[in-house]
Amino acid sequence: MNAPIPASGRARAAALLSRLESGLAGQSRSSTAGARLVRAPGRVNLIGEYTDFNLGFVLPAAIDLEVWIAFEPWDRPEVELTSIELNETRSFAFAGLAPRTERHGSWIDYVAGTAWAMIEAGLPVRGFRGVLNSTVPVGAGLSSSAALEMASSWALADPTAARPTADRMAVVAQRAENGYVGVNCGIMDQFASAAGSAGHALLIDCRSITATPSPMPPALSIVVCDTGAPHKLDASAYNTRRAECEEGVRIIAEREPGVKSLRDVDEAMLTRNRNRLPEIVGRRCEHIVLENSRVIATVAALRDGDLDSLGRLFAASHASLRNLFEVSSVELDEMVDVANSVPGVLASRMTGAGFGGCTVSLVERGAEESLRERVMTEYPKRTGLTARVFNVEAVDGAGPIDVS
Ligand code: ADP
Ligand code: MG
Repeated sequence: MNAPIPASGRARAAALLSRLESGLAGQSRSSTAGARLVRAPGRVNLIGEYTDFNLGFVLPAAIDLEVWIAFEPWDRPEVELTSIELNETRSFAFAGLAPRTERHGSWIDYVAGTAWAMIEAGLPVRGFRGVLNSTVPVGAGLSSSAALEMASSWALADPTAARPTADRMAVVAQRAENGYVGVNCGIMDQFASAAGSAGHALLIDCRSITATPSPMPPALSIVVCDTGAPHKLDASAYNTRRAECEEGVRIIAEREPGVKSLRDVDEAMLTRNRNRLPEIVGRRCEHIVLENSRVIATVAALRDGDLDSLGRLFAASHASLRNLFEVSSVELDEMVDVANSVPGVLASRMTGAGFGGCTVSLVERGAEESLRERVMTEYPKRTGLTARVFNVEAVDGAGPIDVS
C-alpha cells in the first residue's frame, strides 16, 4: 500500500513532480499523469559495529533523511534519470548490463547495478524517466548509496509482478553494490533501508538475514553528528580487520568444534583460547564477541527504558572500537566527548566503519538543541573542523508514496 505524503514532504514532492514535468516538456508526453513517487531512507547504526561480516548482530534504524525518485514509466527498456543535487542526467539500457572490470565510477552505477541485480535474480524490471533528490548526506556513513539502490529498486520494479520481501530486495541491492558498483559492503545498509519500521530500530541477525523491529522509547531521540572528516575507510584497513577475525575463527575452531564464525564464540570460549591467539587477533575477537552481546543488551535496555544501561553500552562499544578494534579517530573521540558533556545526552558513540564519519547519540527529547549548540561551538575549537548535526527519526523502510 502507498504511504501518504507526510506534511513535511508535500513541498518536496510537489517540487520533484514539477521538475519531472518540466523535464518532459517538448517530449511526446506533455503531462505527468502517470507520475509516481518512491522513497528510501538512509540509516544509522545504533550499535553492532563490524559484527556483520562475522555473522553477528547489528541494530540500525532507517532515518528520515531520504532519497526520493519521481518518475514516469515508459515502454522503452531504458532508464533516464536526473540527479538534482548533481544537476546531471544519465541513462542506461537494460540490454547488455554487465558488471565492468573497469569502473566508470558514476552515480548511475548504483541504479544500473540495481537493475542488473534484479534481472540476474529473475525479477521483472521496467524502464522509466525520472528525477531524484536526496537529503542523505553523501559519504557521511548514513548510506546514501543503499538509499539510492532501494529507491531505484522500487522505481524499476514491474508493479504487475509480486513484490519480493524486503529481505530479498535487500540481498539483491547488496549484490548490486558488491558485484556491479564494486563496493564490498555487508547486508545492513540495504536491509535497514528496505525494512525499517517507524519508531523502531531493527535488530538484524546477519547470519539468518532476518530482522526484528526493536521499539525505541518515545522519550528518546536520535542525533547524528558528522565529524566533517570523511569516513575514508581504506580498503586495506578493512581487509586486515576481516583477515584478523578469520584467523581468530580458524585458531579457535581447532579446539572448539562447531565454531564457523565469531558469532559462534562466547566469552568463556574466547577466554579459554585467548593465549593461543596472537595478541592483536585476540583484541579484534574480544571486540566482536562482546559487541554482539552489547547489541542484544541494547535491545533489552531500549525495551525496558533502561537509560543507564544504554549509556554504559554505547560507551563500552566506543571504547572497544577505539582500543581493541582500532577504527576510531581523534575527531570521533572528540565528538563523543563533547556530546557526553551535554545534559540530556544519554548515550553516544561512533557509528559506521570509523576513521571519520559520524557519531550517534541517544538524547532526551528537548535536549537536541543544546547538543547541537555545544557541538557547533566546541567541536570546531577542538579539531578545526566544521560539524553537521542531524536530528533524525526512525521511519518506515523504502516504498511508494501516494501522489494522488
Ligand atoms: P554513503 O556512506 O553515503 O553511502 P558511498 O560512497 O557508499 O557513501 O555512496 C555515495 C555515492 O552514492 C555517491 O558518490 C553517489 O555516487 C551516490 N549518490 C548518493 N546520493 C546521490 C544523489 N543525490 N545523486 C546522485 N548520486 C548519489
Ligand atoms: Mg554507502
